[in-house]
Amino acid sequence: MKLRNTWLLAFVAPAFFAGCSHDQINNPITATDIKSHIAVLADDSLQGRKPFTIGETKATAYIASQFKKLGLEPGNNGSYFQDVPMVEVRSTPSATMKISGGKADMALSFMTDFVASTRREVDTVQLKNSPVVFAGYGIVAPEYKWNDYAGLDVKGKTVIVLVNDPGFKSGEHNLFKGDTMTYYGRWTYKYEEAARHGAAAILIVHQAEPASYAWNVVTNSFTGAKLYLQQSDKHMSRCKAEGWITEDAAKKLLAAAGITGDMRAIARKRDFKAMPLNLNASLVIQTKLKYSTSHNVIAVLKGSARPDECVLYTAHWDHLGIGKPDAKGDSIYNGAVDNASGVAATLAEAKAFIALKDKPQRSIVFLAVTGEEQGLLGSEYYATHPIFPLNKTVADLNMDALGSYGETNDFSVTGKGQNDLEDYVESFAKQEGRTVTGDKNPGAGGYYRSDHFNFAKVGVPALDMNNGAASIAHGTAWGKSKQKEYNEQHYHQPSDNYSADMDANGMAEVANMLFNVGNKLANETTFPGWKDKSEFKAVRDKSMGK
Ligand SMILES: [Zn+2]
Repeated sequence: MKLRNTWLLAFVAPAFFAGCSHDQINNPITATDIKSHIAVLADDSLQGRKPFTIGETKATAYIASQFKKLGLEPGNNGSYFQDVPMVEVRSTPSATMKISGGKADMALSFMTDFVASTRREVDTVQLKNSPVVFAGYGIVAPEYKWNDYAGLDVKGKTVIVLVNDPGFKSGEHNLFKGDTMTYYGRWTYKYEEAARHGAAAILIVHQAEPASYAWNVVTNSFTGAKLYLQQSDKHMSRCKAEGWITEDAAKKLLAAAGITGDMRAIARKRDFKAMPLNLNASLVIQTKLKYSTSHNVIAVLKGSARPDECVLYTAHWDHLGIGKPDAKGDSIYNGAVDNASGVAATLAEAKAFIALKDKPQRSIVFLAVTGEEQGLLGSEYYATHPIFPLNKTVADLNMDALGSYGETNDFSVTGKGQNDLEDYVESFAKQEGRTVTGDKNPGAGGYYRSDHFNFAKVGVPALDMNNGAASIAHGTAWGKSKQKEYNEQHYHQPSDNYSADMDANGMAEVANMLFNVGNKLANETTFPGWKDKSEFKAVRDKSMGK
């Protein structure tokens, strides 16, 4: 990158320093800038940066001190911190869920056949003979003219729905987004929609292909306590029970109602109508509650011309803390890549903005969020308790787990096709002869799995990007093998460590790209939008008064 930049600068420097163009690429961020921060954030003394631990205190203090040192103003009314009140709910369901009303009663076993938990902040929730309904994909999507709840009263009932959306592996490109998962395919959405209709419980049928993960991934996430944001209604508007059942168990329930054959094929038919199974479910869940407060860290560089409008940078500072030791006996989940890298890159971007001769016209807000690993909680809190108005927030630019395998000729944009921000990336990438690709596995719904998603949900155009696989030094096959190696050997494991020979040049590439995108956005008067088919367009149009 260094050679290329020098070469490029010879051509662009006059125009750039004349201060008239924000379209020319400028790459001030180096790997060294980034590595120095990762070394601190991923140090063993931070104990894996888990919320509410000494790791939180140290990580958030470090980020705030760096913001201050750079000369950024506190982002929250004189403070660099935003309180994020959370509640930990430890659910213990009864060992079996009783299903009555069929030819013979059935008992589904916890962990083997089903998992369930509750968000309700009460001692006990109880399902008593709750009528069971098969509600297809459990989707209400006006832009796709789809409503699985049409004419259906599910109050007090238990709905069984399929994961992913009707388009997935249907062979129909125009059914939703074909094999690319929309938000309607995510389990989080299914829970929310069932709650909006007043269902007592929701169980998602686990099928490995459309879920993109195995049953043990589901059960693992139901073993300990879960963290949620505190809600004023104590989560009483959520279903009493939220969970999953295995495909085999679901087949038994459907068979008891005389429904056989491929569930997905049945549910994806345009004339599909929800089916009461004439069965009743009974289950008790006991809970233990614990209330705590974690923190987002926020700073602002005030815009020179339109300070009330802002470009937002996000990266989560938290990781998994101390846990099960690996084969080497290491039990600290340092999260050097996930996501000390994103925070480090954000700090490097802040430094680059401060160094600009022409101050950005719009404000630049830097937000390091908590609780990503626990369900994108810090970003959800900010997006639902924004400090800078959302309809004046031009974009969210997010970084999570940047690649540590050096520079690449390509960038990968998560959820490509969602909004106009990728066009900014394309145009800068073009200047350097680089390409932009979509995410590796669009059917897995990556766009809904990091913090930018919470901004998308409230309508703010959000971009999450990373290096692609086309390694400049070693080629694409090698790049892919490095991505695979990280996913299988280091992701969410104690070995996601910092070392002095970590290659952060690719991280610097991504940070530079987002710095350029943000700087261009900060000097425009227009607002980028969502593409026509995006499920987030309607909410943005509404908040912008369109
Ligand atoms: Zn993670």
